[in-house]
Amino acid sequence: LRYLCLFFVLFQTHAHGASSETARVMLETIPKNTQIQGAFRVTCLMKSENQPLRPISCQRNHQRSQASEPKKNKHAAVQFRNSRFTVVESPSGVQFRIGNGRTLIGFHGEAFRFEGQFLWQGRKVKKLDLLPSAGASQWIVHLPLEEYLQGVLGGEVPASWPMAALKAQAVASRTYFLWKQDLKHRYYDVRSDHLDQVFRIHKKPSPSIVKAIQSTKGLFLHSPLTRSIFPAFFHADCGGDTATEHSVWRHPASENQPIQDRFCQSAKRNAWKRTLPVAEIQERLKATMILPRGAKLNAVIPRGQSGQRAHHVDFLFNNNIIKTLSANDFRERLGYGKIKSTRFKVVKKDDHFVFEGQGYGHGVGLCQWGAKRWAVMGKNFRQILAHYYPAAQLKKRRASTFPSVAER
Ligand SMILES: [Zn+2]
Repeated sequence: LRYLCLFFVLFQTHAHGASSETARVMLETIPKNTQIQGAFRVTCLMKSENQPLRPISCQRNHQRSQASEPKKNKHAAVQFRNSRFTVVESPSGVQFRIGNGRTLIGFHGEAFRFEGQFLWQGRKVKKLDLLPSAGASQWIVHLPLEEYLQGVLGGEVPASWPMAALKAQAVASRTYFLWKQDLKHRYYDVRSDHLDQVFRIHKKPSPSIVKAIQSTKGLFLHSPLTRSIFPAFFHADCGGDTATEHSVWRHPASENQPIQDRFCQSAKRNAWKRTLPVAEIQERLKATMILPRGAKLNAVIPRGQSGQRAHHVDFLFNNNIIKTLSANDFRERLGYGKIKSTRFKVVKKDDHFVFEGQGYGHGVGLCQWGAKRWAVMGKNFRQILAHYYPAAQLKKRRASTFPSVAER
C-alpha cells in the first residue's frame, strides 16, 4: 500500500509540476460579497481527498436567469457576458446579485470557478476559485507566475530600493514559490500573507519591480544537495546573524547556513523593545506546558551562543521549577509582532518583563534589509544571493520545465 501511495503522489506531482507556470494564490483578506465585472463563465467544483478541485454538474437554487447555457463545457453552469454582479457567499453555495440586491441566479455547492476576462478586487483576472464558508471564504486567484511575483515584490519590499536588492528578492521569491509548489497543497500553491509571501492583489506594480522580475526571468536557486529547488526562505531583518531551518522549525536538515551580517547587529532601525506583564506571559505559557497551581514566573532566560540569537528560552518559576521552549515557539506563543526576533535580552522590572532585541522575522535565508545594504554598497544581485544562500546555485529554468519531485 505504501508503494502504491508513493507512486500516486509522484504521478500527481509530475503532472502538475512539469506543466504549470501558474500560481494559485489563496487570498486571506478578501471581504464578504465582492463584485465581479466582465465576461466569464461559472463552473461548479467538488472537493476530493488529496486531489485538485474537480468539475461537476451544477445544482441551481434560483430559476430566473439572463445568462445563456454554455454548450461546449457540460460542467459549466452559466456564461455571463459583460455583466456586473455582487458575489454573495453562503455555506451552501453562491449567489449572483444585481444592483438592486435581487438575486439573479444561485448555485448549491462547495466550490466554484470563474473563468474569462473580468475585473475583481481592482485587478484583471482570468481564473478564480471560490470555496464559500460561513466564516472566511477561500478565494484562490490563478495568475501567471511572473504576474504573481509583481504582487509579491510590491508587498514585500519598497519599490524605491536599489535594483540589485529588488532582483535578489525576485529570484528568492520565484524560488520560494517553485519550492512551495512542489510541496503541493491541494487547492492552492501559496498563501498571500507572511506565512508564505505577502501578495497584494490591488497593488499596481512599479516600473522598478517589473524590471527586476523581467531581467531575472527564469532564474531560480537550485540545491546541489537535493538536486531540486532550494528552500529560499527570507525575512525582514536578521539582527546580526541568520538562522537555520532546524533551529527555527526543527526541520530535520538545514540547507540554509547561518551567516554573519555585522551591520544588521548595530543598526538602530531594527532595535526593538517590548514590555509585557508577567501575568500575560504566564497565561500564554500555560497553553503549552503543565504548571503546578500557584506557579509564579520569576525569570525568562534566552539561551544560545553569546551575542547571537537564542536557540531556546528557559522559564524559572518558584519552587525551582524550570520549563523550556524553543525560541521560535516562544515567539509564536507571545506573538511574532511582540517578540520580533529571537535575538533578545530580558530584564524583570516589578511585575513586568522588558524585552530588548534586534532584528525582525524568523532569520532564515535572505535578510531583506541586509540585502538592501549590500546593494547600496555596490554588490550585484548574484553576490547578494551568494552571500545569503551559500549552499545554493543560481540556475536558469528552460521555458516551462523545471525539476519536479519525480525527476529528482
Ligand atoms: Zn541582516
